[in-house]
Amino acid sequence: AQERYADLRDQPATTLCGTTIALMMNAGLMADLPSLQGSGAEGVGLFRTELQFLTRNKVPRRGELAALYQRVIKAASGRRVIFRTLDIGSDKVLPYMKRDDEPNPALGWRAIRVGLDKPGVMRMQLQALIRAADGGPLNVMFPFVAQFEEFRDARDRLLQEIERERRLGHVLPSSLEIGAMLETPSLAFAPRQFFEEADFISIGGNDLKQFFFAADRENERVRKRYDTLNVSFLTFLEQIVRRCDATKTPVSFCGEDAGRPIEAMCFAAMGLRTLSMRPASIGPVKHLLRRVDLGKVREIIDEARAEGAQTVRPAVRAYLAAEGW
Ligand code: PEP
Ligand code: MG
Repeated sequence: AQERYADLRDQPATTLCGTTIALMMNAGLMADLPSLQGSGAEGVGLFRTELQFLTRNKVPRRGELAALYQRVIKAASGRRVIFRTLDIGSDKVLPYMKRDDEPNPALGWRAIRVGLDKPGVMRMQLQALIRAADGGPLNVMFPFVAQFEEFRDARDRLLQEIERERRLGHVLPSSLEIGAMLETPSLAFAPRQFFEEADFISIGGNDLKQFFFAADRENERVRKRYDTLNVSFLTFLEQIVRRCDATKTPVSFCGEDAGRPIEAMCFAAMGLRTLSMRPASIGPVKHLLRRVDLGKVREIIDEARAEGAQTVRPAVRAYLAAEGW
């Protein structure tokens, strides 16, 4: 598929109405790194750090992680890389970490909750990230932040590690951006100060959608009832974008849906300007974005909303069909 879109690789994802959407890639494996060059991604919008923890039978060592993160940064050759701290629990369980059985793991002790309650592993990971930056820029985001206080705590711990590295006489990152993943509806209603203090926000659509509709993302039967292009969900995304815009907080969307061309187009029509997706999706998403007028898509979505439609998909499909898609 990447070959098919090869001639688009160095072209921007600029729509007919002149809006440019930044397309980044999601990664998590060393094997993903060659795609940084091949896909035309502007950078790594989400580097999932779980795999290096899941594929071992004990906690990886700091030096090992630092070397690995540094390879990711090197492969990006100056492009932006956003590392997400360990997102375990729920569907990703570390065999060597003791935990109680939970009746609802997706709503349980996971991600930042583990990182804040048992800070040892998170501290080690943060140290590895600071060392990997090796005097260059560092961008870190925390997963599954449900309230402002959690973000503040996590950020303070990162700043403490920076301070520790400084005392040790190690080289510090040239710049540091600390962001949050917005993947629980509660965070969309956080106080304005949260949006001011976060350097950037990334919408984790996979989790956000599951919690918005109360529909397990792993359960086909219930998941399929709720279209991502559901009017309520798009309206919610639009409100998040508005809140971010009000504080000029950069916002992106990094769930799987960003890699689906029609979804990506609708997200752009709701105001999103950065999307992060698996590398193979960048070509198809760019291909569609370059052929649409977001103002027109927006009108179609607004009409569907005004009519009380449940999803805008049929209306959007009809528009694309009329345009020869
Ligand atoms: C998400 O929830 O949308 C996300 C990007 O994170 P993950 O799929 O790893 O939970
Ligand atoms: Mg998630």
